Amino acid sequence: MARAEAVVIGGGIVGGAIAYYAAKAGLDVTVLERGELASGTSSRCDGNILAIDKDPGFDSQMSLKSQELVHELSAELEHPFEYRAPGSILVCESEEEMAAAEEWVRRQREAGLPFRMLDRSDIRQESAFFADDLLGGLECATDSTVNPYLLTYALFAGAKRHGAKVVTRTEVTAIKRDEVSGQFLIRTTRGEWTAKQVVNAAGVWAPLVGRMLGVDIPIVPRKGHLIVASRQVPVGERKVMEFGYLISKFGGQRKVDAKTEQYGVALVFEPTQSQNFLIGSSRQFVGFDSKVDLSVVRCMARRAIRFYPKIADFLLIRTYCGLRPWTADHLPIISRVEEVPGFIIAAGHEGDGISLAAVTGKVVSELLSEQSTTTIPLAPLRHDRFEQAKEKEVHR
Ligand SMILES: Cc1cc2nc3c(=O)[nH]c(=O)nc-3n(C[C@H](O)[C@H](O)[C@H](O)COP(=O)(O)OP(=O)(O)OC[C@H]3O[C@@H](n4cnc5c(N)ncnc54)[C@H](O)[C@@H]3O)c2cc1C
Repeated sequence: MARAEAVVIGGGIVGGAIAYYAAKAGLDVTVLERGELASGTSSRCDGNILAIDKDPGFDSQMSLKSQELVHELSAELEHPFEYRAPGSILVCESEEEMAAAEEWVRRQREAGLPFRMLDRSDIRQESAFFADDLLGGLECATDSTVNPYLLTYALFAGAKRHGAKVVTRTEVTAIKRDEVSGQFLIRTTRGEWTAKQVVNAAGVWAPLVGRMLGVDIPIVPRKGHLIVASRQVPVGERKVMEFGYLISKFGGQRKVDAKTEQYGVALVFEPTQSQNFLIGSSRQFVGFDSKVDLSVVRCMARRAIRFYPKIADFLLIRTYCGLRPWTADHLPIISRVEEVPGFIIAAGHEGDGISLAAVTGKVVSELLSEQSTTTIPLAPLRHDRFEQAKEKEVHR
């Protein structure tokens, strides 16, 4: 039987960041991953480290902190991960969206973030390929981008350099906590481990791991498609989203056709370092189905052409899907579980796991080493907040 001070379940970007910061802090940590590293959502996504689309206040400040940490990681980690920080923009197609954008910028600036409005001429300067009728938009100057796959690998390489053990092709099948010793016994498809602390970083599969200890974790898969298109001309240098993406993310009503609404399609445009474009994306609750649906892909392509009419005959290289680990309030769960001492959840980052992995890794390492304060306050990310919200509803 193998021993570790802390076992992290999940070899995605969140598990990688936890392993890195925990090992760097001197903890004896082992990661157990049932497939290969980054074989879950962390290799089926974009690579944006964004504050622009975060709810102004706690959410956007947490993202800003993570951006700072990723900037530090770009100097600290041995392996490069295609890091760039050119900022990002949201574009508006109606006066109504412009008014909502003004309000978004005002609230973000109040929360201390570097946001500004863009007018029609700023948009023209950004890209000659934009549709003529776009009215303007907004910019977040600190937003950055990475290759999520490479960042995950760089974090695990860094973790190993600091002494972490990383075990792949090893699925956790059962976990028991001994009430007397307080130790966990972790059963896997390749042997047993004991640990004083266990971190559940299993993304959309976190509820299944939680169930092994009788803990209910309200995370649901939210499917997303992406198109990889070949860059033939320099359409744009940085990340662009339509303002409607915010409405789609937070579940509001948009003025779009029925299919665009049904598939939750909103423009996301990301130039990559390898000279391609990622074009997205969709948002659907369809369980664990992660097969590409061509009618969704067509809908996304139509949406991209609405904003960039001149890219209609770009070469499409491939398409893929990932499952975002969704929670009802769009915030991750980064929390101890009081009923099971030593059990920590770090999952439910929905469409923000690449952005928030660094700050998650940092605070979980602080929890594991029982520090009295954490880099960001953790009360809004508690596991029991959903129960408390339900109770409040009942007593209303
Ligand atoms: C289309 C799309 C676009 C996105 N774009 C962005 C973006 O631009 N920016 C951003 O911040 N986020 C983005 N996201 C979200 C981001 O990809 C996720 O939030 C993030 O990858 C989640 O990482 P994770 O480590 O929690 O989960 P995962 O990467 O899924 O890792 C969990 C791991 O746990 C393993 N596992 C599960 N059960 C077990 C078990 N029993 N035993 C052992 N191992 C187990 C799995 O095999 C998996 O490797 C996007 C997502 C999608 C789908």
